[in-house]
Amino acid sequence: MNIQDLIRPTIKALKPYSSARDEFQGNSDDMVFLDANENPFENGVNRYPDPQQRTLKYLLSTIKGVTQQNILLGNGSDEVLDLIYRTFCEPNQDNIITLPPTYGMYSVLANINAIEIKSVQLDADFQPKVEDILDVANSNSKLLFLCSPNNPTGNSFEVKSIERLIDEFKGIVVIDEAYIDFSNKESWTSRLNEFSNLIITQTLSKAYGMAGIRLGICYASEEIISVLNRIKPPYNVNILTQQKAISQLEQQGLTQNQVTNILKERDLLITKLESIDYISKIYPSDANFVLVEVDDANKRYDQLIDKGIVIRNRTTQPGCENCLRFTIGTPKENRTLIDTLKSIS
Ligand SMILES: *Cc1c(COP(=O)(O)O)cnc(C)c1O
Repeated sequence: MNIQDLIRPTIKALKPYSSARDEFQGNSDDMVFLDANENPFENGVNRYPDPQQRTLKYLLSTIKGVTQQNILLGNGSDEVLDLIYRTFCEPNQDNIITLPPTYGMYSVLANINAIEIKSVQLDADFQPKVEDILDVANSNSKLLFLCSPNNPTGNSFEVKSIERLIDEFKGIVVIDEAYIDFSNKESWTSRLNEFSNLIITQTLSKAYGMAGIRLGICYASEEIISVLNRIKPPYNVNILTQQKAISQLEQQGLTQNQVTNILKERDLLITKLESIDYISKIYPSDANFVLVEVDDANKRYDQLIDKGIVIRNRTTQPGCENCLRFTIGTPKENRTLIDTLKSIS
């Protein structure tokens, strides 16, 4: 596939902003930096951040097994997704394909960027309908979003289906792996080199416990990464975020322990949920949340709010009638949830 043909002409023609720190990155402590109109007095953040976040990318590349040239970082995955839209989708002309019920940002970003949304609902097992997706795609379909494990359903998509979609869809396939660190399925990053039209996004917001610092990760071919780099704001990942991400990623064991704990708690929660009579279905989960079907989602949601417990009501999502989504909390929070669910029956 010729990726250049998918890029918006405006973006291809763009001359990127060259920041002071793009032109020169010093490695030695005795350099004198009088290039960026910064305040020279040290306070830890008086200098602009590294626009290429090289230390952080190096660390990520060793943890994730992807070379730095195949990584772009953003202010949360939300910024990464927006950059992808602005690279490939011509406003008022192109369209994207999403598979509801799924993450809401794909549609919001399409609307912001004046891009038509083609929706192909997941099947009864929340798997992609491959034929229908390929049928609905046309020459203006630039992006196909596959969220796996999917939010809010919790399941992963079948490898064979994803493989076929990447092979046969004539645009970019974006696999959103926000929850991959909770899953025992292999990340698609291991197969990045096989597909020129594949983009994978991940985040430090979920398993890594850093939703507050806003760090999203994008993996793609060097060709795609270099275009995204041309349009990203030069200093999109601030110094505090880079520092905090580095110090947390250096403690991989901590994250691993927390993930193990959360998964244990998820299984325990599922067992307890089975004994609640107004819960009619508990969907299997590869993520740190569970989707359940209840007798009356609006009523149960309101009852939980009254007791001070905030969960997500997904009843208006296609295929999720009367469904609630519970995030896995601490052992104490999960006990409170179960006690409260029992008390409202
Ligand atoms: C939570 C979530 C994200 C994370 O977005 P950030 O902007 O990185 O916090 C991305 N995709 C999905 C499907 C999510 O549920």
